[in-house]
Amino acid sequence: FDAKQQGLPLRLYHADIHNDLTRRLEIEQGLRRALDQDLLTVVLQPKYQLGSQQLSGYEALVRWHDAQLGTVAPDVFVAIAEAVNLGKKLDCWVLKTVLRQVKVWRDAGLQPKPVAVNITAKHFSDPALYEFIQHKLNLLALPADCLQLEITEGVAMDNSPTILDNLTACRHAGIKIAIDDFGTGYSSLSYLTSLPIDYIKIDKTFVQQLDKGHNLSLVKAMLAMAQAIEVGVIAEGIETAEQQMLLTELGCEFGQGYFYAKPTSFSDIEQQLTVTE
Ligand code: C2E
Ligand code: MG
Ligand code: MG
Ligand code: MG
Repeated sequence: FDAKQQGLPLRLYHADIHNDLTRRLEIEQGLRRALDQDLLTVVLQPKYQLGSQQLSGYEALVRWHDAQLGTVAPDVFVAIAEAVNLGKKLDCWVLKTVLRQVKVWRDAGLQPKPVAVNITAKHFSDPALYEFIQHKLNLLALPADCLQLEITEGVAMDNSPTILDNLTACRHAGIKIAIDDFGTGYSSLSYLTSLPIDYIKIDKTFVQQLDKGHNLSLVKAMLAMAQAIEVGVIAEGIETAEQQMLLTELGCEFGQGYFYAKPTSFSDIEQQLTVTE
């Protein structure tokens, strides 16, 4: 009787771990296949200048629907990609896909605003990253400022010389850099102020609690800090008119979120580009 009572949760525990590992392995294998066979897609989420309500750029976000696994969320498969050394391959696939699309649009006479691509943590310390980007830009005859990069706070804090080299090279070429999910890591402010970056992106967890009266002083402090070190601020995850109004009043310059626009397919973005020209 006793053994049964203790054995059951133990068995469940093993079953959970087993299922979790199986799922991770399936995702890893599926992702390798998807990368090789171009089965991923990229959507673009518009970013706006809050005061003027003008479009200022896009963020590229990867999407994956697998025939067997169904739709897998990017934070799930990006984390697995990073863990099994596929981060670089994924980033390069997204970079290539975005730059090709930008090239097609520019050749058609359209003028898309800059597209920001997320780069996985480890890849940003790879000296080949900047060369890969420059090579693609040259090949497609694209100006560097059509591309921006988003890196997480953790990357920027990892005091490695190759990270600083990548930051410096990109910035010198005119590729703007944003620190993503700002406020969720453990940044040393003195180190952060020394980095060559262009924007911080206030994490959506802070933005979304704003209209409930939370985090107001924290967001104010981030905006004051950004102003002091002369970097721009982008608020992510704006979902309500109230959040948008508060952020505008506080002097936040840029924002993105469902309130403005959801991540959108290339073909729908193309239609918008065609209409506004
Ligand atoms: P992130 O870079 O911080 O991206 C912002 C996330 O917030 C996206 O989730 C976006 O769809 C979502 N979002 C945008 N507006 C709103 C809003 O108003 N409300 C809410 N609740 N969410 C909003 P997504 O696409 O699921 O991506 C999750 C994370 O996965 C990203 O966070 C990024 O870290 C990673 N990721 C996504 N695409 C890529 C990619 O192409 N490459 C790399 N390396 N990482 C990516
Ligand atoms: Mg991002
Ligand atoms: Mg973010
Ligand atoms: Mg995030």
